[in-house]
Amino acid sequence: MTTEIKFPLISGNISIDLVNTEVVRHGTRHDLLTKTAHVLAWFYTLTRDDIIFKEQFGEDIEQWADDALPLLREMRAFLREGYEKMADGKELSTDWITHLESQIKKAPFAYQLKKNTLMPTPIGKPENALTSLIALDALKLITSNQVSNIRRCANPDCVLLFIDTHGRRKWCSMNICGNRSKVTRHQQKAQKKQ
Ligand SMILES: [Zn+2]
Repeated sequence: MTTEIKFPLISGNISIDLVNTEVVRHGTRHDLLTKTAHVLAWFYTLTRDDIIFKEQFGEDIEQWADDALPLLREMRAFLREGYEKMADGKELSTDWITHLESQIKKAPFAYQLKKNTLMPTPIGKPENALTSLIALDALKLITSNQVSNIRRCANPDCVLLFIDTHGRRKWCSMNICGNRSKVTRHQQKAQKKQ
C-alpha cells in the first residue's frame, strides 16, 4: 500500500518536508518521491496532518499526481540547493527568490475561510497549485527569517534538514539519529572498559 510510505520529520513547513523526501537509511540514499504512487502518499500524509487541504486543489489528486511528480522533483532539487546553502552559512541569491516568485505566478492565490483562518487557494492547474503553495512556504521562511535557522542533521550520513528554533538542536530527530549516536557512544565507552 502506497499510503504506508513513512515520510520522516513532517514539520508543517511543506517546502522543508519536500526536501526531506530524500533520506538515508542504513547508509543508502533513498528517494521517496520517484513515482506517482509516492506523490499520492505524500499528499495524503500532508492532508492528514492539515498541512495542505483538499479544497486548495481544483481536482482530486488522483487526476494530477502524474503531472505533479516531475514538478515536485525539480522543486525539491532547487529548494535543497538553497536550504543547504543557508545551513552552511551562505547567502541566498536573488535569483533563487525570483524563481520562487515565478512559481507562484503560475498559480496565484485566492482565499477561503477555513477553521477561522484564511486558506490560500491557488488558481490554476492543481500541480501548479501545489508548487505555488510550496514556494509560498519557502518565501514565508525567508520573510520570518526562519530560513537562517535551517540546519543539517549532525549525523554526517543523514541528509535531513530542520529548523532549529531554540538554537540547541543537533539531530533531525532523537528517534532517527540522536539515539543512534547515543548508542554508538555508549558502545564505544563499554568497549574501552573491557
Ligand atoms: Zn538525521
